[in-house]
Parts: sequence; C-alpha cells; structure tokens
Amino acid sequence: MNSGIRIIEIDTILLDVPTIRPHALSMVTMSGQTMMIVRLRCSDEVSGLGEGTTIGGLAYGAESPESMKLAIDQYIAPLLIGADATRVGLAMDKVNAAVKGNHFAKCAVETALLDAQARRLGLPLSELLGGARRDSLPVAWTLASGDTAKDIEEAQRMLEARRHKDFKLKIGKRPVDQDVAHVAAIRKALPDLASVRVDVNMAWREREAAHGIAALADAGCVLVEQPVAGVEPLARLQAKSRIALMADEILTGPESALAAASKHAGDVFSVKIEQAGGLFAASKVISVAEAAGIAVYGGTMLEGPIGTIAAAHLFAGVRSLEWGTELFGPLLLTEELLTEPLGYADFELEVPTGPGLGIELDDAAVSRFRRDRTAASASLRVVR
Ligand SMILES: [Mg+2]
Repeated sequence: MNSGIRIIEIDTILLDVPTIRPHALSMVTMSGQTMMIVRLRCSDEVSGLGEGTTIGGLAYGAESPESMKLAIDQYIAPLLIGADATRVGLAMDKVNAAVKGNHFAKCAVETALLDAQARRLGLPLSELLGGARRDSLPVAWTLASGDTAKDIEEAQRMLEARRHKDFKLKIGKRPVDQDVAHVAAIRKALPDLASVRVDVNMAWREREAAHGIAALADAGCVLVEQPVAGVEPLARLQAKSRIALMADEILTGPESALAAASKHAGDVFSVKIEQAGGLFAASKVISVAEAAGIAVYGGTMLEGPIGTIAAAHLFAGVRSLEWGTELFGPLLLTEELLTEPLGYADFELEVPTGPGLGIELDDAAVSRFRRDRTAASASLRVVR
C-alpha cells in the first residue's frame, strides 16, 4: 500500500511585500504584508507550495510569520521528512499528534502537501476537496483607509472597474456613533448595486454592539462581522438583530464551530483556512455551518496568492456561497508574485484550472522580496 513516494525537503522563506495603502483595522494598521512560504519537494520530483500569513504580526492571532517558520523548520518538517507524500491526511495526523495549536503553520504545510498530490494526479486542488461547483468566486473589497472620503472614492473606482461591488468597512476604533456616521456616508454615496458590510473585529462590548448594530441596520448596512468577542454575546446579539451577524475570530476549527453553531452565534460563518487549521479542517467547519443552517462566507487572512488560491479551491466547492468571499489579499500587494497573474474580473476571482493550485511563483519576485536576500546572495557568492 505504501506509494514509495517520500517527502524529501520542506523549505520555508519569509517574503516582505509592501501594500498599496495603509490598511487600518481596529487592532492594527498594516503597511506591508509578510508571507511565510512553504516549498515542499518529494522523491518523485513533484513539489508543492503553501503559505502562512497573518494580519499585523501578532496583532490578530497567536502566530506570526516568524513563529510559523520556526514551528515548521524546527518541529514539523523533521516529522515529515521521509513520510509518504501521497497520504496527506496521515502525514497531518502525525503533525497534529506531536504539535499543539499552530493552525496557520499547519495550514501552510498541508496546503503544500495537497498542492503536490493534486499536481501528481494532474487534477486541480478543488478535486481533492470534493470537486468545484463554480469556476469563479464573488470577491468583496475592504475599505480600510481610515478616511471616509478616500473610502468612497476607492469604492467608486472599484465599481467602475467592475472589480468589486460588495464592500466591507473596518470599524471599531472610533466611538460607535462616529463609525455609524462613516458607514452611513459611504452607503449613501454608493449605488444600489453595491452592498455595505462592516467588521468590528471584536472591538465592541455587548451593550454598545446592540446599539451599534441597530444603527448600522438603519444606515443600510447588511452584515456585521464579529461585533463582540465570545459565543454567548454574539448569539444574544444575533437573536435581537434585524440584520445578519457573522462569526469570524471565534471560529478556530471544527470544535469551536460546533460550539458556535449550537448557540447560533451568527447567521453567517466566515471560514478561513489558516484559522481553521488547514483545508481539511476548514472543510469540516463548512459542514458544521451547513448542518446548522448557517451561511458560509469565504474569509481571508489577507493571504498572498498561494493562500488565497488554496482557499479559492475550497470555496469553489461550497454548496451555497450567498455572501461570497473576500479573497482579495493579492490585490492589496504592490507586487506581482506569480508568473501568471490571477484573474480578477466582473466582480469575481477565477479559480485556476491547472494541476494543484494551478499557479507558479515568479522566482525573480521571490528573490527580490525574501527577507534573507542579503544572506542568500552572500551564500551564493560563497558557492561560486
Ligand atoms: Mg473579520
């Protein structure tokens, strides 16, 4: 039964890429994005790519790109070298038995294993995840310049270019009434074709959230993402709310999804492959949501192209995706990292159809942005 195909190398690098503008969230303002890239090589000369990314270093979650790299180099890679590369589930069982937590790092490694296995089989990754139901995905855009007039101008440009029509506003940093006024002004300035949603990133207490959600509903906002921390408060707020609330930060894998679903903490679940612990775990979060009658939304950790496309292969197979996705991470970067750019058009992202993830990293761009480029070029000189 053993395929004889072994994992022979797992390489990790950090890429630091500037963003097109500052991205202001309730907990941090980002001016660049760091991607931890996994390059996995197997004994049959097939390789796979994975990505671990987060929002603002340690501002969003317990893992940073640097900690993901360390977890993989020091703990995960040594467990997997020599393992059967064709048995992704079994390989990840081995990792999960020996390494607690570290969902983002595990997601990056599992993605690389699945990319390699799908390439080996000559199939798009979506086929290993149950098969695609759609060729492209609706993609929302996040307005987070921190300035109302700039946000309106940015949204209008996106509508004109037919790139996005659903807009998520990052709020929670200012007093509730100021935030509501900001949302109302943007809603009013945009045509009916556009939808306006907000993400509070848990910044509100329950009482101010109850007031804030009602005021946002009056202003024409259709969805409020994670207004408060915790399952119980979110469930209580959803029971009273006229508009849909979305759970995000509280969903850290299938178990937490089950806990949130059993209380109906939100009408919508934002599913994120890294937060869930990988593509397989995210797929289970989707099943929990579907079983509970909760809508599924394709969330992002602002991944670059690799993580974004891995998630796209999963969301392509979701039965119903009425709220769409927010897989716009690569569009926030100033630089193209792929040999063939991703297809964003007509408000949607095309899911690549080639084997595996269906994308290739541009080696020149990788060399330009890798954090250790000085050290890398120095070691090249030594080799020469
Ligand atoms: Mg969120």
